[in-house]
Amino acid sequence: MEEVACKSCRIIIKSGNRCPLCGSTDITPKWSGYIIMLNPEKSEIAKKLNININSTFALNIKS
Ligand SMILES: [Zn+2]
Repeated sequence: MEEVACKSCRIIIKSGNRCPLCGSTDITPKWSGYIIMLNPEKSEIAKKLNININSTFALNIKS
């Protein structure tokens, strides 16, 4: 199954069509690059992207 990314919060979703993080249904298979967030409370990138859970996020989302 193709992985998709949420356009709102950038989390990568392996199944389903609704974002488990922000609840958005605005998701897309058109993304590239990703970061694995393991210690969001210690990460400057996580703060910038407003991420506070351990997960995988897309770096670039094509609109
Ligand atoms: Zn989301």
